[in-house]
Amino acid sequence: MSAATNRREFLQRTAAAAAAATVGAAGGPVLAAEGDKCPMHAKKKAVLKLSSQDGRIPGKELPEKLDLMEKWGFEGIEFGGGGLAKRVDGIKKALEGRKIKVSAICAGFEGWLIASDPKIRQKAMDSMKETLTAAGEIGSVGMIMVPSFNGQDKEGSLPVKEARELLAPLAWWTDRKTDAPKSLLQELGDHAAKAGTTVILEPLNRKECFFLRQLADAAAICRDANNPGVALMGDFWHMTWEETSDMGAFISAGDYLKHVHMASRRKRRMPGEDGEADNYVDGFRGLKAIGYSNYISFECGCDGDPMERIPAAVKLIREQWEQA
Ligand code: MG
Repeated sequence: MSAATNRREFLQRTAAAAAAATVGAAGGPVLAAEGDKCPMHAKKKAVLKLSSQDGRIPGKELPEKLDLMEKWGFEGIEFGGGGLAKRVDGIKKALEGRKIKVSAICAGFEGWLIASDPKIRQKAMDSMKETLTAAGEIGSVGMIMVPSFNGQDKEGSLPVKEARELLAPLAWWTDRKTDAPKSLLQELGDHAAKAGTTVILEPLNRKECFFLRQLADAAAICRDANNPGVALMGDFWHMTWEETSDMGAFISAGDYLKHVHMASRRKRRMPGEDGEADNYVDGFRGLKAIGYSNYISFECGCDGDPMERIPAAVKLIREQWEQA
């Protein structure tokens, strides 16, 4: 067979494949044929477990919020990490006898981890360890952490390469030496694992954190840290701007993925409030491909009445999960 014939056949196959595809609501290609769902088969079954940050739910006191969340079918709740140690008993009591568990703790520590000033680094390490201990006590999957926000860079963060080496040296695990000093993430990971939880790296969009923007990069950091207490998450809002494929991003995260944030994809409001832009099917296919069974948690504003918009968002997500 000549090269020209090969090329002609290739072009014919490509054209046929293109004809079989249609365009999804968010503008991305989706497979048209029924049954052509995710091409990968996870070894474990993915489970949709919805969570929300506590501040997003109407209600003055926690029990009131939890009643609403149970009514709407949530299974997880996410708290801010500020002063968590002092709130452990109250949270435990409020969750007693309920189906809802703590999905994640969102930041709340002092300083930042890749600061050029060792004192700021130490402050970050100490306050993160304190939060991780509390997170473990209330059964949280993990504590969300951004190594450095853009604004903090200006105050003095390490150069990118140096920061990366400090967090988790490249392929540290390939030539591991027993006397090698622990990297920052290994020290934190050891503490987290001992407390029964994880430290969860969150990639953000470039306007907020240029240092860490994509799930695959966070996954490579987790791989290099090679520690059961070090994980990552994906936030659909940030992924909208930084990822070329939601599905690809989640597949690249694999088992390191321990949490997902959810918001509408234009204005970061309640899913559904940005109309057709709020398409999560491609991402859900990725989550199904890796057998994801941790939480998908609302981190978003709300333009309409939350009493109507939250249950509508839950319905939308459940429908798209089924579609994926
Ligand atoms: Mg987030």
